[in-house]
Amino acid sequence: MTTTTWQDDAGRDLVRSFGDRMALFTRGEGAYLWDGAGRRYLDFLAGIAVNSLGHAHPVFVEAISKQAATLSHVSNYFATEPQLALAARLKRIAGTGPTGRVYFGNSGAEANEAAFKLARLHGGAERPRILSLKDAFHGRTMGTLALTGKPWMQEPFQPMVGGVEFIDSTVEALEAAIDDRVAALFVEPIKGEAGVVELPEGYLGAARELTERHGALLIIDEIQTGAGRTGEWFAFQHEGITPDAITVAKGIGGGFPIGALITFDAASDLFYPGTHGSTFGGNALGTAVADAVLGEIERAGLVANAEERGAQLRAAIEGIGSPLVEGCRGKGLLIGVGLTHPVAKAVVAAAQGHGLVVNAPNDETIRLVPALNIGDVEIDEFVDLFAASLATVSDALVLDGNEVSA
Ligand SMILES: *Cc1c(COP(=O)(O)O)cnc(C)c1O
Repeated sequence: MTTTTWQDDAGRDLVRSFGDRMALFTRGEGAYLWDGAGRRYLDFLAGIAVNSLGHAHPVFVEAISKQAATLSHVSNYFATEPQLALAARLKRIAGTGPTGRVYFGNSGAEANEAAFKLARLHGGAERPRILSLKDAFHGRTMGTLALTGKPWMQEPFQPMVGGVEFIDSTVEALEAAIDDRVAALFVEPIKGEAGVVELPEGYLGAARELTERHGALLIIDEIQTGAGRTGEWFAFQHEGITPDAITVAKGIGGGFPIGALITFDAASDLFYPGTHGSTFGGNALGTAVADAVLGEIERAGLVANAEERGAQLRAAIEGIGSPLVEGCRGKGLLIGVGLTHPVAKAVVAAAQGHGLVVNAPNDETIRLVPALNIGDVEIDEFVDLFAASLATVSDALVLDGNEVSA
């Protein structure tokens, strides 16, 4: 009899586009994960900003179980109560007022695909141009890849869907590029996949003013920044502007796959019967879970918690005093720890060795996107484990003869 490891199975059976899986997890509870060997990890990745309430939260479990036992799916020929409740809740927390509308999909990419079609409906033949920011991430489907300003991601899949132009993330670049032939500007308000990179101060306000002046839609991708993560329900709300549309996914479902496009005012009239659809999108099961997750975020005050715990975490990280840490970027519980050396992947591996799950969106950044309900216990434990992980890597650098100084 031959025995195979999970690594063998994964290496043989799973698509190669993700590279080697780092661990096999079998169970989660709150901010903790357990692997197949029974080892416990503190999870500060939360499925990439997805598990807003942590793992196996009773509200999440009960919403799924109850709705699965009641009504899961009927297709979009029909409405369901959870779907209407979630649409109303999303309109309320996004602040659309009565004229807003919600399109449901099953992922971030599907939300952005819908937004791309919204832009085309608005633009028609008169406005063939779509502007998007260099280095922003909007998804991996052909449409959303065309919106994603990362040449290395697009290259193997050329030709792209046409019409998208990439600009620098400055007001000057937008001013230079925009005209009356632009249908929409897509903005990722904090570039998560690029390493938690913030826009220049006042960018969204200027973008609102310029898009309005030229009759273009302002579409904000809140897939990573939404669901309360940055200390507001959505990142655009820090700037006091009203966009034409936002896209949401990740943390909205707390671990259930769901995405949505939320439109404001006149943009809500663009889709008409037959112009878009999805079989699973907005089904009763997914919308019941997302409505319960958002309801718990609201009930437990987790938007404010994200803001407070984010500040606490940043101060604690700087307090570690590691020569590898340059400083923190981001807002609330979307944190990028900038490193002084390109050793982020080594830090992630060291962290895993110490029982901590974090991730490296690039070689100089550690991304922290824990559950929104973390408290003192998790933060204290994180600081110990993260300090140990940084020390493991800086000690190894010194042994290799590299100078490590802040
Ligand atoms: C994750 C992400 C997406 C894509 O979402 P998927 O659910 O992976 O399709 C799009 N935009 C941003 C900003 C994201 O963080």
